[in-house]
Amino acid sequence: FNLLPLSNEPFVAYGPGSEERAALESALGLMKKEAPFQIHPNVVGNLTESQAMPWEHSLKIADYSTADKALVKKAIDGALAAKKAWCKTPLHDRAAIFYRAAALLQGPYRYKMMAATMLGQGKNAYQADIDCAAETIDFLKTFPALADQLFKNQPPINAPNVWNRTEVRPLDGFVYAISPFNFTALAANIVLAPLILGNVVIWKPSPGAVYSSWLFNHLMIEAGLPPGVLQFLPGDAVEVTEEVFSSRDLGALHFTGSTAVFKSLSARIGGKMEFWRSYPRIVGETGGKNFHLLHLTADVRNAALKSVRAAFEYQGQKCSALSRIYVPASLAEEFKAVIVEATETLTMGSAFTDFIGPVISRSAYDRVSGYIKDAKSSADVTVLAGGVCDDSKGFYIRPTVLETKDPLSKFMTEEIFGPVVCIHVYDDADFGPKIFKLIDESTQYALSGAVFAKSRAAIIEATEELRFSAGNFYINDQCTGAMPGQQPFGGSRSSGTNDKAGTAGLLTRFMSQRTIKETF
Ligand code: GLU
Repeated sequence: FNLLPLSNEPFVAYGPGSEERAALESALGLMKKEAPFQIHPNVVGNLTESQAMPWEHSLKIADYSTADKALVKKAIDGALAAKKAWCKTPLHDRAAIFYRAAALLQGPYRYKMMAATMLGQGKNAYQADIDCAAETIDFLKTFPALADQLFKNQPPINAPNVWNRTEVRPLDGFVYAISPFNFTALAANIVLAPLILGNVVIWKPSPGAVYSSWLFNHLMIEAGLPPGVLQFLPGDAVEVTEEVFSSRDLGALHFTGSTAVFKSLSARIGGKMEFWRSYPRIVGETGGKNFHLLHLTADVRNAALKSVRAAFEYQGQKCSALSRIYVPASLAEEFKAVIVEATETLTMGSAFTDFIGPVISRSAYDRVSGYIKDAKSSADVTVLAGGVCDDSKGFYIRPTVLETKDPLSKFMTEEIFGPVVCIHVYDDADFGPKIFKLIDESTQYALSGAVFAKSRAAIIEATEELRFSAGNFYINDQCTGAMPGQQPFGGSRSSGTNDKAGTAGLLTRFMSQRTIKETF
């Protein structure tokens, strides 16, 4: 059979007076009126937790009941029972469910999902569109084609009277999926990659994105995903994990979130290897301290404007967000003037056209505003733009540009995960081993980075010498915005296992082959 041809879902502008804008506005209005929604994972329990809207302290998008240990156990049993049929379902039937989900997301679900992501996760219309419409649809459409490549990858040699073949099977057991708040598309990637190969998934969504995750769960069910295959379990991370890790059938951990949590979960899995029925696969995408490096020949304006987008889109809450910039002294004045001017014109508020919205939660606000407070009182740091935090109504932080003379200061080395970027000005002559070593060794991360230069020699040198400093490396472009099927996304070191979201490489982590030899 033929799979659908691939292309990326086009982005939508939501310009004034457009049909799309009217549809989105009406979905937002309706959702605001109907919220808070009630979410029960599989069974009816008490609605003990809420997902707030970060825009305004008084607003909630959902109340939900959390999974206790008994429910987690029931979910694992239910998933393993459902797996018997799901793992035998032919790829084209699973593909049809994915394609139907993509069509639903292009149609009736589009504005609902966008509204849920905007209201619950603090995105503007553009950020919601590229996330839960375009990127999610792209994942739904690309995974079947990528899985098909794996099915077609058969042993190339057969001796006379022998037929060798490999059967693509899911992992033994179930996949434990933990998804982040910052991308509905990443939650989709987290569950879809194992599902397309016939795995069953125990899914713990982020407390900051319970409602959009719940809608995605419903989208998949409406598209035909059989009951039990995907078990949606919002809850306390420690309690859910405790119960999940007490099952010998853990086949894999598929995680996107913080470096510290991923390291601790990995250590716990590694700490009881005698217990598991199979060696659990560990797949994770975690933190970053992503960089832009300018060479003397850089187009300064282009680099500065792209830095603004990379640092501040979605309030800097992308794993790939820009947070450190290295600028040669001769370009520094012009670069700073452009970045400050562009940053100061960014609008902030709750209109869906505002560039900057709120950060996700009280703890995010406290962490980021803490860094800003420290920056203001540090002798080594100058606040060039922003620096204003206001939590009187929602969790608002003006996009903030810092400059430091100390390239090893915490503003240049620690992940802040908010709208803060720090500039370090280096001597022109240091472009070369000195600056590469600094970029490479001053943080534990290796997620995304970019070099801006017109000189071919500088581009070649940076690309070669920063080989292991970023899993996504951009030349004269911003370090965010990887597109499924175009720029496979992921990093190594403390940024993750670098299995690249939305790729065949990722799928192989959730596949366990059987080789069959038949003689005649
Ligand atoms: N894929 C996104 C990008 O390239 C980032 C995903 C993330 O935040 O983890 O900007």
